[in-house]
Amino acid sequence: MAEETILESTERTSGRDALRKNVQAAIALSGAVKSTLGPKGLDKLLVDDEGRNLVTNDGVTVLESAKVEHPAARMIINASSVQDRVARDGTTSTVIFCSEMLRNAWELVRQGVHPATIARGFAQANNEAIKIIDSIGITASKEQIIEAVKTSLSGKLNSKIIEHIAMMAITSAESIFDDRRADPTRVKIIQQNGGSALDSQLIAGLAIAKNKIHSEMPDRFGPGKILLIDGGIERRKPNLDAKLKITSTGMLDQFRESESKTLRKQIDNIIEIGCDILVLNEGVDEEVRQILADTGILAYRRVERSDLELLASSCGAKIVRNVGHATKEDLGDFKYTREELRGGVNYWILGAENGGATLIVRGSTTEILDEIQRCFDDALGVACQLLEKPILLPGAGATQVALARKMRRFAEGVPGREQLAIEAWADGLESIPRTLAANAGYDPIDSLLVLTASQTKHGDNMGLDLISGKPSCVIERGVLEPATITRQAISGATDAAISILRIDDVLWAQIDAEVPDEVQERLSGMGSE
Ligand code: ADP
Ligand code: MG
Repeated sequence: MAEETILESTERTSGRDALRKNVQAAIALSGAVKSTLGPKGLDKLLVDDEGRNLVTNDGVTVLESAKVEHPAARMIINASSVQDRVARDGTTSTVIFCSEMLRNAWELVRQGVHPATIARGFAQANNEAIKIIDSIGITASKEQIIEAVKTSLSGKLNSKIIEHIAMMAITSAESIFDDRRADPTRVKIIQQNGGSALDSQLIAGLAIAKNKIHSEMPDRFGPGKILLIDGGIERRKPNLDAKLKITSTGMLDQFRESESKTLRKQIDNIIEIGCDILVLNEGVDEEVRQILADTGILAYRRVERSDLELLASSCGAKIVRNVGHATKEDLGDFKYTREELRGGVNYWILGAENGGATLIVRGSTTEILDEIQRCFDDALGVACQLLEKPILLPGAGATQVALARKMRRFAEGVPGREQLAIEAWADGLESIPRTLAANAGYDPIDSLLVLTASQTKHGDNMGLDLISGKPSCVIERGVLEPATITRQAISGATDAAISILRIDDVLWAQIDAEVPDEVQERLSGMGSE
């Protein structure tokens, strides 16, 4: 009964029909991002509910902003989001590869191969490919790391800005790398309106757009101790109506005096534990500011919680709630502190052992600022990964073509129908070089044939040259990508495709699903493809 009630408001598609529809959705989805792939990919202008514009060349940004409700399409978008989180790059490739694999799987299903067999074949292909990927990686030199970070930005910005952003990404990644891990969240990004993207600059240490709370405070010294307070030092306001019954003329003064004493006690505690810089999340009383200045303590107030947390991890300090209860153990260490004007804004800059870095992004419009920030984020993610694991693979379709060739040979040795699935998987991988060529205006089929032939003759490092249209050695050209990105894109796409192949029942809640126009058009046009 319960089940019936649930099913009443749903629509059901099952079996082959469910798979067909899911494959259509996947193809529609990849159709929406295909044109952004590679250095010759085009930008998309996205407009949200409130009419705000977003110009991007980033596949995952396109997909996350679109309100796609189709469950299979959502599974692929999720794979792409995971790719973005784990590898920072390769998001469009994930979607294209996944949908192409599914398209080929559908052809096999039509020929009578069971989806479960295909899923098994895909898993086998993926395992074998990962083994190959792990064995062919190139250990990167410093120059190659720079090339790889630039490759991750290619097509997104003009070459001068790419160079600038790539260098800042590498410098900041190096500053947070402890020989084992480089955590990109330790680099702070501030957007500052005005100027051009080329004026964006990197500051060593943590920069916060704040002024010290009293002009007589010292602002350039170090090393020293820092105290972080998630609160303020403020006088309680006497609530005259409700709480204080004034019986004698001196009472209000007495109240004020006792408040002063409490504040004084809190400050005495800070002085006693040896604090040089005091940072507070809330406000500071006028009287206290003067006392702090007199005792030579530098203080900043109304500092955001996120900045307090960055300060805490940079300096090894604990964030405490109450100034009066702070102890020596709560203090952190800093190396230097100073204030500096950058592009007309005053920044407090703090250097510490794990001080990280701050990027000030400049640009004339919000759209530009956002896109530059996204690009820097990606470049930083790639740089961090490469410091942790400096293994590269050839880009420009070279690795996909080489893997496809190897997988076809591998398939020959597989006796069951899985052999067909492995071949379909290999064909799917070639969608990447095909799309790269098509986006640059070349014939996808011819380009792939020429590239495959050229790899057979000159080896696996031959990739597409999208300017001349002829294959060339990508190692020489410096089109290199972190192995982690290619690896994650391949296995993430395969996992999503397998999950979709295993679905044979889709229950639709009968609500009006909003499908973006572009996807909708492709869905309706699918019958003719
Ligand atoms: P993704 O979201 O998958 O990273 P991109 O639009 O960043 O999509 O395109 C990445 C693809 O472009 C990779 O296959 C990469 O090898 C290729 N690529 C990048 N630079 C070049 C280049 N200069 N020549 C040819 N291909 C390139
Ligand atoms: Mg990319």
